[in-house]
Amino acid sequence: MIDPLDFVQNAGIRHGRIPMADLVRLHDLLFDKTGELIYQISGQLDKNAKPGLQLEVKGRIHLNCQRCLEKLACEIDLKTFLLLAKNETELQQVDEDDTIDAILATPDLDVVNLIEDEVILSLSISSRHAEGECSPLTLKSIEDNLIDKKKPAHPFAVLAALKKTN
Ligand SMILES: [Zn+2]
Repeated sequence: MIDPLDFVQNAGIRHGRIPMADLVRLHDLLFDKTGELIYQISGQLDKNAKPGLQLEVKGRIHLNCQRCLEKLACEIDLKTFLLLAKNETELQQVDEDDTIDAILATPDLDVVNLIEDEVILSLSISSRHAEGECSPLTLKSIEDNLIDKKKPAHPFAVLAALKKTN
C-alpha cells in the first residue's frame, strides 16, 4: 500500500516481484500459474506538473490461446503513466481525454491490485497463436465441436428467435 500523492512528493520508487499465483484475477486468462511479474513504480510529475505514477511491468506468462486453448507464451512489457486524480470530478474530467490514463489517488493505494488491473487491461486484446501455430490436435477437436453445433436448432429456440423479430 502506498499513499500515491505522498509517494510523488517524495519522488518514491518501489520495485518488486509478484508471483503469478498471487494475481488471482488473472488466473482465468492463464494456462498455468508459472512465472512472475517484475515491476517498478515511481512517483513523478508530468509535463504539466501534475502528479502521477510511472509504472513498468515485465514478465513472461502463459496464457490460454483463444483459438486452440493451448499454452501461449506471452511477454509482458508494459510502461504506463497514470495521472493521479484528487477526486471523482477530476477523474471524470481526465477520463474524457483518451490519451491520458488516470486513477483516483486514494491514500491507501494497493500497488499489486493496480498492477493486476493494468496487466488485465493490456491483455484485453484477444490473445492467440500466430496463424498456423496453433496446436493441430486441439484445433481438430474444436472444429468437430463446431460441426456438432451446426445441427438444427431446438424448435423452441427457433420459435423464440421468430418471436424476437416480430
Ligand atoms: Zn493456438
